[in-house]
Amino acid sequence: MKKITNRANLEQTEIIEQMPEVCSNELAAVEFFERRIWNRTPRCPHCQSTNVYQMKDAKTGQRSQRFLWRCHACEKQFTIRVGTVLEESRIPLRHWAYAFWRAVASKKGVSALEIQRQCQISYPSALFLMHRIRLAMTPEPGTSPKLGGLGGMVECDETYIGGKPRHVILPRPGKHGPWPQKIYADKTPVFGMVERGGRIHRRVIASVSGKNLKDTIRECVDPSATISTDQLRAYRGIGKHFDGGHVSVNHTIKQYVRGQASTNTAESSFALLKRGLMGIYHAVSKKHLHRYVGEFDFRWNTRNLNDGERTVAAVQGAIGKRLDHETLTR
Ligand SMILES: [Zn+2]
Repeated sequence: MKKITNRANLEQTEIIEQMPEVCSNELAAVEFFERRIWNRTPRCPHCQSTNVYQMKDAKTGQRSQRFLWRCHACEKQFTIRVGTVLEESRIPLRHWAYAFWRAVASKKGVSALEIQRQCQISYPSALFLMHRIRLAMTPEPGTSPKLGGLGGMVECDETYIGGKPRHVILPRPGKHGPWPQKIYADKTPVFGMVERGGRIHRRVIASVSGKNLKDTIRECVDPSATISTDQLRAYRGIGKHFDGGHVSVNHTIKQYVRGQASTNTAESSFALLKRGLMGIYHAVSKKHLHRYVGEFDFRWNTRNLNDGERTVAAVQGAIGKRLDHETLTR
């Protein structure tokens, strides 16, 4: 048996042991979310007062049916769902717990179809749940520390996801007839920045232009870093913004490592993303691709945590986020 070294470890082990109960018993699930989101101090989401109490059923003395709390300060009622991604639905919290748990514990994620089957809820409900869990797993823009601090090496690379390259005929004004061109009409470019041995940040971008790539790098990478890329023209000139400058490998002559330069980590992270999207999610619409990218980044960035710690990290990411109602098709 694994030796338990400290209180934090003990707690994480407890979480793993509790999960089957939490995923099948609504009261256990409510208490799980209350403990993880409030971190032991129940708080009124309306006025932030901690002078709050659980509402009890007058007849049975048990917790009220909707697991309500009430605030002494502002006299409003609330539940643990208020002010989190859990708020917009009535899906029982034990299903939320199961979906959170599966999303973080499986290497390549979990499909809405599987959540539908296991929790016996409708497919739209399962999808609704998973999109909100992905939102919880994705940090708010600008809240993560920049990549490559203290002079780290950051690999940058781009890839295309979805659809198939198509040959289309584009008219050439003033020239002799049409000219077939290979364009990636329904592929979506995703740009990735990854610290060697560290964190990753990927982003769906409108197009692979020098301006887009360079603006994104400068926004997400610490100025002390070194930037490592392939020899795509779009990266030219990025080195002057970084203390470590810019190193590159020339993939067109099959060069994959040159001194410090390579994009192997970035490429393997994209391979993992593509395999995951293909295996579990089959097809992902362009509109939602960024959510799946956020989910895969979360898993990469928490790879050194155990499943209990990862579940807590994801649940705490649910705080303060809302996904406005929209048509979610897949
Ligand atoms: Zn209050």
